[in-house]
Formats: sequence, structure tokens, C-alpha cells
Amino acid sequence: MTPPKENINVFWFRRDLRLTDNKGLWHALASGKKIVPLFIFDEDILQSLSKNDARVSFIHHLLENMHNILSDNSSGIIIKHGKPIDIWKNLVKEYTIDAVYCNEDYEPYGINRDREISAFLSTNSIPLNSYQDHVIMHPNEVLKDDGSPFKVYTPFSKKWKNLLTSQHLKHYPSEDVLHQFIEHTEPFLSLDNIGFTKSTIGVLPYTISSLTHYKELRDYPAVKATSNVSPHLRFGSVSIRELYKNTQQKSEHYGNELIWREFFMQVLYHYPNVVHQSFNVKYDRIEWRNNEEEFERWCKGETGFPIVDAGMRELNVTGNMHNRVRMIVASFLCKDLLIDWRWGEAYFAEKLLDFELSSNNGNWQWAAGTGCDAAPYFRVFNPHMQQEKFDPKGEYIKKWVTNLNELDYPKPMVDHSFARDRALKAYKEALQPSA
Ligand code: FAD
Repeated sequence: MTPPKENINVFWFRRDLRLTDNKGLWHALASGKKIVPLFIFDEDILQSLSKNDARVSFIHHLLENMHNILSDNSSGIIIKHGKPIDIWKNLVKEYTIDAVYCNEDYEPYGINRDREISAFLSTNSIPLNSYQDHVIMHPNEVLKDDGSPFKVYTPFSKKWKNLLTSQHLKHYPSEDVLHQFIEHTEPFLSLDNIGFTKSTIGVLPYTISSLTHYKELRDYPAVKATSNVSPHLRFGSVSIRELYKNTQQKSEHYGNELIWREFFMQVLYHYPNVVHQSFNVKYDRIEWRNNEEEFERWCKGETGFPIVDAGMRELNVTGNMHNRVRMIVASFLCKDLLIDWRWGEAYFAEKLLDFELSSNNGNWQWAAGTGCDAAPYFRVFNPHMQQEKFDPKGEYIKKWVTNLNELDYPKPMVDHSFARDRALKAYKEALQPSA
């Protein structure tokens, strides 16, 4: 394609794959210049993923949807594949760029990438203008009175709610100015072009009509009472501002969950060391058993604990797992098997369609009792009781553990009360002041 002669601006899509109510995109489109819409399949991220990764298929699907909409205006998304810095080095040669627009990313990798690209662009006198879009409150906005970050959810959420104004939920009508994109007819890159194949696992559409009895029903995995919105929030195919506004009347409790997401986002932002360390570093003294064979059984859903196995099988088949069951399987791994939470976290990161570093890490550390506002370590989930309470008719279990009553279904791999005592001893020893 022949690049335009005129000066243009670029909008760089990342985890905000939508044309509606997209703050950074709206600012770019309102700049008056023609906009080049860009997405980069980042080689550094792709290389660690399996070739039929469902997240890559989902991203590609969202890009294709946007591309088709833009085609109506004789435009389309420009997709590149490579290392972002190399791509940008080429783009500044190809186009006369006045400014680059994007939305902020709060993960350590994203922050470093943006720092590098911003430094490069500024050597070419191009500003990188980034906007807060992925969260309602910036990680630096909800702080204690002394300016330090919160470590406990309840006071964080109180302050979050006190600070909330209509300005935070403002609609940015990017969808109304799509004619501002440059005209072009560059072919749309296929999954094959980036070395991937289409996954058989798809992301479910989200719903908010199921939230009427959210507070009472959200813990029952056999009931469809949650929104399935997490992968959409992760990749930005839904606006968090719109979602919050549209669900406020339905369930306040639902809003609290969205604040948990922001809580863990600010924990990761302020304490990036949690990626590798326990938030409470004392817990890094725990002597995990880390038995690889046992870990394998947990991954496959062959522990002999039906609720744990149902969860892991659901994850392996669908890339999703109900929140209550995530808590149960995580507790089982860390406490009953005494396997390092980082192993479980990594397995979830590989499988979950909604994998979000901040929420995954925060929740794993919560379950292991090592994190910010974590469950006290001595509260060990009893998988039998959890099953009785949250899947009393065994409907969820029967759906995923189809061989429950067959001879090949394994016996429980550990005695829960023995394992509980073993865990408590290991945790207690780790917490003892060193001699
Ligand atoms: P709903 O119940 O409809 O909730 C709506 C939204 O609120 C969710 O989409 C999510 O954005 C937010 N939310 C709800 N619960 C939590 C929570 N405990 N922590 C943070 N945000 C929450 N969520 C992820 O988005 N990505 C992850 O990688 C992830 N890993 C997890 C790992 C473990 C061990 C556990 C216990 C939980 C994890 N969660 C994660 C949180 C939660 O399980 C999912 O957000 C939820 O199951 C998604 O389904 P939903 O959209 O139907 O949720």
C-alpha cells in the first residue's frame, strides 16, 4: 500500500479491542488528523504460547470484527507481527507521524514496553499520549490519607466509592467518529500468517441479565448467575465504564467484584515484586512439597476429589472455571498438596481465557494465604464441605466428571484432615521467627 503523504496520528490498540467508548481512541479521533489504527502481535508474548492458544484466536476474532466495521469506511486495522520496538522503527519511516495514542497498561511488561517505545518515539519528536481506560480508577487515585497504597480491600473499596464521580463513568463516543481513520485496503493478517491456528475453544458472550440474584447465587457453579465478562474485560471488548454504569441498578454486589479487579490491579502496580514473591515475604519460607506427580494429577483433574476434578476438567475443556471452584482448587493445591501457589498460578495463566496477571496473582496469593488481604492461612477449605454447600445436588460435578461412578475414577489422593494438619504445621514453621 502507498502510505499517505499527509501527517497522520496512530492509535495503537492493545487490551482495548473495541471501537465504542474507547477513551484513547476517542482522543485520537478527536485530534483532527487522520488516524492509522494499529495492532501489533507481540512476538515476545506469542513465543511463550501454544500454537492454538484460545486467547490469540479471540484477539484475532475481535480484530477481524473491528476490521469489518472499519471496512465500511474504506479503512481497516493495520496488523503487524514482531517486536514492538522493531515495528515502530519501521512505522516512523513509513508514515509522517505527528502523535501516537493508546490506553495505559498497568502490568510490569506493558509499563516497560511503553517506556521503551515512548523513549524511541520522543527521539523522533513524536509524543505517546496514553489514557486511562482499562480501569475506572487509576492505581494512583485510590490511596490512603498518607498517600500510600491500600493493602486491604474493604477500606480500598470504601474510598473507591467515595471518590467516584460521573466524570469517571463518562462516555467517550469513539464510535461516532470512525470516518477519521485513513483509507486503506491492506489485507487482513490471518492467524496462519502469525504462525497460529484457530482454537476450538471460544469465548462466551457476556450477559448482565443474569445478575438479578447475583449476590445469592454467584457461588453456585451449576447456576448461571454470573456475567462471563472477564475475558471481555481482559481484552477490552467491553468498556469497564459502560459495564459499571449498566450493572449498578441490578446488583451493588456485582460492582464490588469489579472493584476487586481494580484492587488487585493497584496491588500489582504498586508492588510488582508480587509476580515472583509472596506479598508477605515471610511465606516464601514455606517448605512446599512440590511433588510433580501430584501436581500432574491436579492439572488433569484426577485427584479423587470430585469438586476439584470438575473444576480442573472444566478449565481444561473450556478455558474457564467458576470463581467458587477456582478458590477450592487453589486451596487444595496449596494446602492439601502443599504445592507452591506459583505452580498453580502458572497453570491457570496458561489455560484461562480471562487470564489477567493482577487478578490471577492476587487471587492465588489470597487462596494460599500469602497475599494482600489474604484468607488467614489457618482457614483451610474442606473440599467435601465445599462440595456439599455449593453443589448440593452434584449437578456441576456430574457435568464435568462423567466417570464419577466408574471404576477408573480415582480414590482421593490424600486424606483431607491429615493434609490439613500437615499444611498448618508447614505454615506455622515458616512463620516462626528464625533462630
Ligand atoms: P462475575 O462474577 O460475573 O464478576 C464480574 C467481574 O468482576 C469479573 O469478570 C471480574 O472482572 C471481576 N471479579 C469477580 N471476582 C473477582 C475476583 N475474585 N478477583 C478479581 N476480580 C474479580 N479473574 C480474572 O479476570 N482473571 C484471572 O486470571 C483470574 N484468576 C483467578 C484465579 C483464582 C485462583 C481465583 C480464585 C480467581 C481468579 N479470578 C480471575 C477471579 C474470578 O474467578 C473471575 O474474575 C470470575 O470467575 C470471572 O467470571 P465472571 O466474569 O462470570 O465473573
